[in-house]
Amino acid sequence: MESKHYIDICEENILHTYNRYQIVLEKGNGVYLYDAEGKEYLDFGAGIAVFALGYNYKEYNDALKNQIDKLIHTSNLFYNIPASEAAQKLVEASGLNKVFFTNSGTEAIEGAIKVAKKYAYNKDGKTDHEIIAMNHSFHGRSLGALSVTGNVKYQEPFQPLLGGIKFADYNDLESVKAQVNEKTCAIILETVQGEGGIYPAEPEFLKGIKDLCEEKDMLLILDEIQCGMGRTGYQFAWQEYGVKPDVMTCAKALGCGIPVGAFVLGEKAAKSSLVAGDHGTTYGGNPLACAAVSKVFDIFKEKNILEHVKQISGYLEQKLEQLVTDSGAFAAHRGKGLMQGLVVADGRKPGDIVNKALENGLIVITAGSNVIRLVPPLIIEEKHVDEMIEKLKKSV
Ligand SMILES: *Cc1c(COP(=O)(O)O)cnc(C)c1O
Repeated sequence: MESKHYIDICEENILHTYNRYQIVLEKGNGVYLYDAEGKEYLDFGAGIAVFALGYNYKEYNDALKNQIDKLIHTSNLFYNIPASEAAQKLVEASGLNKVFFTNSGTEAIEGAIKVAKKYAYNKDGKTDHEIIAMNHSFHGRSLGALSVTGNVKYQEPFQPLLGGIKFADYNDLESVKAQVNEKTCAIILETVQGEGGIYPAEPEFLKGIKDLCEEKDMLLILDEIQCGMGRTGYQFAWQEYGVKPDVMTCAKALGCGIPVGAFVLGEKAAKSSLVAGDHGTTYGGNPLACAAVSKVFDIFKEKNILEHVKQISGYLEQKLEQLVTDSGAFAAHRGKGLMQGLVVADGRKPGDIVNKALENGLIVITAGSNVIRLVPPLIIEEKHVDEMIEKLKKSV
């Protein structure tokens, strides 16, 4: 059956909240995806930075199949084995203290916000605490996460949102300091801004924020949903900066395709915030999702994924540099590891380039207003980088 058939059925039945590309993806293998007509795409989007291990990864698939035959779901009224393993591995990899599993990134943000509020409430018993978030940030679409997402267009129709949220400029420490007062309980930011246009935090900025949080006893919440899980060549992007958050949020590549997220608390936040009765979820941390998380951490170790990302991203950056110099279509590139953005030159539209790339069998996505975002599976090799560059050149 041809793609148009499925597209028509989807448009007839699924609420139109996405302007989708007119492609029906049917299966994947390694770093390639195939549509319903069998056309091949080199995937530099990875389902929005999700599929870190690439498609059809045998060991991962087998782990899920095994778990399906054993136990898919229980509830959080009981313990389960995969959750014990996944939580231990996440705590070990982060050096943080306690995990709460969610089903998505936005839910991880909701949890982090509740942690911050409860932490401050435990200190002074007040209920008017404020949180500082960043302009051009993205933290998700549920109402709490939307409240800390610095994008007026996303927010406006849904006002009033959560009160007490102040916005500052990313990489501008003074603008953050200007928003701090005795009610501030937390600062939330992405270690590398993703949707906003691929902006890594400057080391001085992040260190300054950390110092500020320590000085005023506010919680530092780092959103690692997109930049975490090896994408920058570190298990979590903050590890490169040596700036440890009080709360970290994860999702996207955490389960490599199984919907799962987490908020992870450092000792200080774990000691005095959410307790029994304060938070819950039916699905969160269920055996199937946690079997995925657990296996992902195993494969990362076995295959030395972090080392691979460090190596291959050097090659990618060199090629992007060349592309910027040669093509005339791009003004600059920036990013960390395998989270890279190409800034399109004036007069060019990122959407046009993405469409052309799709015609040429390459999936890339956009970010911000003028950026082509490259977030491939972490297992890409030099030949895939070369193929991507060729296809991108052809598309501009
Ligand atoms: C994708 C993303 C989210 C939201 O995650 P969902 O799983 O889509 O709810 C939050 N923060 C960042 C940085 C993201 O990239």
